[in-house]
Amino acid sequence: MDDKVKIRCPACTHIFRENASRVRDGAQVNCLNCNKLITLTKETEDPFLRRALKAAREIRAAKDAAVHAAIYSGVASAPRREMP
Ligand SMILES: [Zn+2]
Repeated sequence: MDDKVKIRCPACTHIFRENASRVRDGAQVNCLNCNKLITLTKETEDPFLRRALKAAREIRAAKDAAVHAAIYSGVASAPRREMP
């Protein structure tokens, strides 16, 4: 599963990919091209950064859902004790 999101640097418009777990509201990442410190906030006017935050949130939610599904399927496949 691809857990990287695209981030467009507001300074140089270079597009790079960052791990979704690092892309969250209030986080800061450095542009790989011009080394500008980019603050990721959902308050930003930059639609590219807002999109990146949304995509990262969806990836994290999907990962959480997959973990929960694995846990619950494990419970469901365990032998059940029937009441007499
Ligand atoms: Zn840049």
